[in-house]
Amino acid sequence: MTPVAQGLVMGVDIGGTKIAAGFVDGDGKIVRQIRHPMVANGTAEAGLQAVFDAINALTSSASKDAFGAIGICAPGPLDPKTGIVLNPPNVPCWRNFPLAQKVAEKYRQPVKLDNDGNAAALAETRWGAAHGYHYVFYATLGTGIGTGSVLDGRIYHGNTGAAAEGGHVTIDYRGPVCHCGKRGCIEILAAGPAIGKRARAKVEAEPARAARILEFAKGNVASVTSEHVAQAYVAGDLLAREVLEETVELLVPWLGNIVDLLDPDILVMGGGVSSTLQPFFGEIKERLPRWCVNPRASEIPLVLAHYGADAGIAGGAALCA
Ligand SMILES: [Zn+2]
Repeated sequence: MTPVAQGLVMGVDIGGTKIAAGFVDGDGKIVRQIRHPMVANGTAEAGLQAVFDAINALTSSASKDAFGAIGICAPGPLDPKTGIVLNPPNVPCWRNFPLAQKVAEKYRQPVKLDNDGNAAALAETRWGAAHGYHYVFYATLGTGIGTGSVLDGRIYHGNTGAAAEGGHVTIDYRGPVCHCGKRGCIEILAAGPAIGKRARAKVEAEPARAARILEFAKGNVASVTSEHVAQAYVAGDLLAREVLEETVELLVPWLGNIVDLLDPDILVMGGGVSSTLQPFFGEIKERLPRWCVNPRASEIPLVLAHYGADAGIAGGAALCA
């Protein structure tokens, strides 16, 4: 491997099963990256050691002084002001854990910590699809829905750092109970698992139209996921299209609420489900004015995020850039 140049920052993306770490240059380009397993179900120390191992693997061939800071994005809830991880459901090893301080002590570098949605929103604003915009709303649609807002170049954290939980904005108070305990959050209605669930119901109700989706799921209704819906849609399947149309119907009022609340100058969508829904972006924009009072809603660009699977690395680095 070639030596790492000066002027880089390190982005570390911690998830429930893996850690991604990379060096990011001043233009937001990821110049090197590694993946490492996370140990989320053991002791707090074992989880921390997994983070150290990932950082060590990335820096093994670089000089110790080659980078100037470490930015970490981790699953919330966390406190970005103190760098403390509070009680994330998918990283049970850490409860009120001072992650930023522990990493700073080990590597003697400034360390910033934020949640995935906020960090990715900042990376898109600094270097990605929202570059040059001032009031940015970002959403990642995948297994869950994470969001972040960047106002005048800064993440909007709210009073306690708990702002931007846009995935848990309710659009149906009589809807299904979300993991968070509320009813009808957009996450429980429109994230990947909800798309899979809706597809399974349709496949069971209309087996005659389900051949394509079932083909991708190897004939097993119970194993149909949003990925199979995406594959079937690309292959021209009408049932898959209906499932995605229904998802769009749920997302439009939610985005209308966001536009009325924030008056953003751009909406950026990231994550695997957003890539699947990109062919519907025009339709979403067309329908949006009916779901908000903002008279200029139709002028707000709705774009796919620049960073895909590397959003966490770029997001971590953006916290320090
Ligand atoms: Zn919720």
